[in-house]
Amino acid sequence: MSSIRILSDRVANQIAAGEVIERPAAVIKELVENSLDAGATRIEVEFRHGGRSYMRVEDNGKGMSKDDALLSLERHATSKIVETADLDQLSSFGFRGEALPSIASVARFEMQTRPAAAVVGTEVVINGGKLIHVRECGLAPGTRITVTHLFNAVPARRKFLKSDATESAHIIQAVRLYALACPQTAFTLIEDGRVFFQSPVCLTLQERVAEIFGRQLAADLLAVETMEEGLKLTGLIGRPGVSRTARHEMITFVNRRPVDSRTLNYALIESYATTLAKGRYPVAVLFLELNPAEVDVNVHPAKREVRFRSEGQVRGFVIRAVLQKLRETGHAAPVAPDQIPNPNTQIPNTNSQFPISNSQTPTPNFQLPAPAPSLPPVAPPAASFSVPPFSVYRAPPAVILSTTASPFAVPRTLALTGWRFLGTAHGDYALFESPAGLVVVDRRAAHERVWFERLQGQFARNELASQRLLFAIPVELDAIGSALLLDRLDWLAKHGMEVGEFGRNFFRIEAVPSWLEPEAAEDFLRDVIGLIRDGQLDEKNPRLAEEELARLAAQKAVRLPESTNETDALALLARLFACTQPHTSPAGRPTHFELSRGDLAKRFQR
Ligand code: ADP
Ligand code: MG
Repeated sequence: MSSIRILSDRVANQIAAGEVIERPAAVIKELVENSLDAGATRIEVEFRHGGRSYMRVEDNGKGMSKDDALLSLERHATSKIVETADLDQLSSFGFRGEALPSIASVARFEMQTRPAAAVVGTEVVINGGKLIHVRECGLAPGTRITVTHLFNAVPARRKFLKSDATESAHIIQAVRLYALACPQTAFTLIEDGRVFFQSPVCLTLQERVAEIFGRQLAADLLAVETMEEGLKLTGLIGRPGVSRTARHEMITFVNRRPVDSRTLNYALIESYATTLAKGRYPVAVLFLELNPAEVDVNVHPAKREVRFRSEGQVRGFVIRAVLQKLRETGHAAPVAPDQIPNPNTQIPNTNSQFPISNSQTPTPNFQLPAPAPSLPPVAPPAASFSVPPFSVYRAPPAVILSTTASPFAVPRTLALTGWRFLGTAHGDYALFESPAGLVVVDRRAAHERVWFERLQGQFARNELASQRLLFAIPVELDAIGSALLLDRLDWLAKHGMEVGEFGRNFFRIEAVPSWLEPEAAEDFLRDVIGLIRDGQLDEKNPRLAEEELARLAAQKAVRLPESTNETDALALLARLFACTQPHTSPAGRPTHFELSRGDLAKRFQR
């Protein structure tokens, strides 16, 4: 029996493990990377209970001799780099030599491995960093690593694990990323004894996307391939109009490595800025290839962050490539001036998987397509029509005081005395004559404000007016979405939306809040999941969560009535003035402004 003490420094490894191995998905990521580095053309991943009880990664790669197998468990043992200079030329996933010893220090770790040339394989078993045994074993060429009882000896870490459903969603997402990165390797993913997906060797990325994300998404994507001065971009991007509320389907790779890159994310968001509604994100699976010396991947072991030596060049290149494709497709919508991305716009740093820091928003250094021709510019008015923080006019006192039972039922008795509806301009703006002058109302903004406060009130009073649907609406979600939704079904039901689970990742919307059109229910549900994913509907802060839900509903789900007759227009105005914050929409846009009689007189030099 061997007496090698290969893991003398258990503590050091457990500490390193804290960095590298934060959750079961990190173990899977490291093992799958090793299999790919070993040249595997077939990888099978199996896990149980979100990975906490059992994980196995098996490959048909090059395997290890007994000596190498033992060496691989030493800290900083790697066959992949010799000197730091090699880091520049790195083409493998791993290079730190930390993963295996780290995993072995915080779990029971069993490795069977055999190079094709050897007749027998080697089995090494380690438990919590202690070598249990090394012996010969039989197996086909390749490597099988089984990790059980993760974090058993490190209760502090175990405590931080989320529900099995959430942990397994992370594992599934990780395996998907590598399956996308390497379509030529066959992947099988088995969860709790059931095959979750199984993709044979694929010739193209499209095929792989269809295999693991479904034909629907594959059909919504356009192929991109562009080269320029040492940069190559290939992959798939969403057709204009295909969008998500969160950025988790903006999947990017640099030199085949799944990455989280501010530069690439911004480039994508900017490219689509003209065709996407506010708060929506594009869908893309993009591969950037460039000289490894131009990328720094060594930012953090567990994170996917990368930095480019010339951020500006990469950014410009990606934007040009994507815009070019969108234009070729002929779908690129004309740019309205107010849609030109504002470099100061803050993109919320909400997605934990692809965090983007707000601190240093890069300035765009690219050309946007020319704005669509519009009316000749009108000379700016001499008087400034700024929105007065507190308007010079006052809503009739009757409205302000009518906050009895339901503040939103506009009392019949209410008359906006002295107000006249003059009509609408450009569809969106309602014009009124007021006793004090002229008032222009942005109907959309006013409607959003009214509904926002109305819904907040309903939520606060626990008023749940919900309508059962005659035909339930089926919705298919991805694994993470499903896991997140499952945790919040009760909460949603409490807010009028009843969703039932019927099969893995399949749900049925059975009842919707009375304000929601059934046709809009699926989109709304997806938007809600996007918010949950971004941490904006945190259960621990129910008041804020309800506010976010009300904001989303007011903006996206409650339809603005088409009708603009006098009665409706005045009713909207009266309801707006009854709001606690009538001056801005829930998103902070002004709802109206007034041109006083004094302003008018001044402009006409009376
Ligand atoms: P790194 O990947 O950073 O080199 P790891 O700790 O992940 O470090 O792996 C250590 C070494 O073990 C690798 O460099 C490789 O030589 C070997 N190895 C690990 N997994 C496999 C595998 N599945 N097949 C063949 N060799 C492997
Ligand atoms: Mg590795």
